[in-house]
Amino acid sequence: MTRVFNFSPGPATLPEPVLRQAAQEMLDWRGSGMSVMEMSHRGKEFMSIHAEAEATLRELLAIPANYKVLFMQGGAIGENAIVPMNLIGRTGRADYVLTGDWSKKSYKEARNFGTVNVAATAESSKFTAIPEQAAWKLDPGASYVHICSNETIGGVQFHWTPDTAGVPLVADMSSDILSRALDVSKYGLIYAGAQKNMGPSGLTVVIVREDLLGHALPVTPSAFNYKTQAENDSMYNTPPTYAIYIMGLVLQHVKATGGMPAVEEHNRAKARLLYDFLDGSSFYRNPVAKEDRSLMNVPFWLKDAALDEAFLKGAQARGMIQLKGHRSVGGMRASIYNAMPTEGVQALVQYMKEFESQHG
Ligand code: PMP
Repeated sequence: MTRVFNFSPGPATLPEPVLRQAAQEMLDWRGSGMSVMEMSHRGKEFMSIHAEAEATLRELLAIPANYKVLFMQGGAIGENAIVPMNLIGRTGRADYVLTGDWSKKSYKEARNFGTVNVAATAESSKFTAIPEQAAWKLDPGASYVHICSNETIGGVQFHWTPDTAGVPLVADMSSDILSRALDVSKYGLIYAGAQKNMGPSGLTVVIVREDLLGHALPVTPSAFNYKTQAENDSMYNTPPTYAIYIMGLVLQHVKATGGMPAVEEHNRAKARLLYDFLDGSSFYRNPVAKEDRSLMNVPFWLKDAALDEAFLKGAQARGMIQLKGHRSVGGMRASIYNAMPTEGVQALVQYMKEFESQHG
């Protein structure tokens, strides 16, 4: 068996020990005589899996007791509508900060549900930097302020937490949740699709402060009403049981390998390796402002786009896949989530050096 170094932006590489454990438990989960996929979500076996996954997430991210953790479906794109449906009703207005494709998508969707204001946009930098807080025009009467903490396509990331003067801060953390230490108490709501750092697709994690529940617009489908889901321990409808199980294994793995401080250090070291190389090269280029660079998604361009095909082909031949940049930006992108080992980034840098010396 040969495993590739998978630089996919998501669904993405997962820790090998987790996959091995899932394989081992596939037919008979811990003496239950059945696969997790076959379990009733209300049976004691799955209830224990669900409870442990939530408890481990709470422990790793130090989630305060006045926050609910919801396991939902619909992905982050679903949340782009579900968030305003649940939160905008308090005042009818919301602020959005535009830092790239994903936050722009969130903003567009939210406009269906109320008055939505662009508090800041990175357009003038072509979305290569996070707009500084001093330039934000926040509406004190907004129901919430929405940001995307890590733009998966553009490779820009918040390395500071905005001060929204008491207005609840909402963050799409799909591509950087669980990658670094986090002060949950600074947010009103955090949402993330699981398929980058946490597990397989099909599961959306929502962490929401309790006082924000109960303002859903009347059109909100009951399965997407946070209050209904919170009152039913995310079992109002059948939750994505297998995805929750795999996330639980990933969380246990993170815990066993040192928790958030160790994960963050590992991620910083991997990103440094790649950015230092990019900065020292005149053949490759990363467009993002240094202080706003993502530790998770590293877009880069070759000097000549005509070499892109050859670059990707050579990478594939060395067992490195999914390096093609998003179709909207072109070039390359290396997604180096938690489960990407240092060896993967080292192999990529080595290959990039060789490619440069052949074509530079
Ligand atoms: N937000 C961000 C930051 C993302 O990276 C993605 C997926 N790449 C999404 C939203 C959309 O997620 P989904 O397709 O699961 O709805």
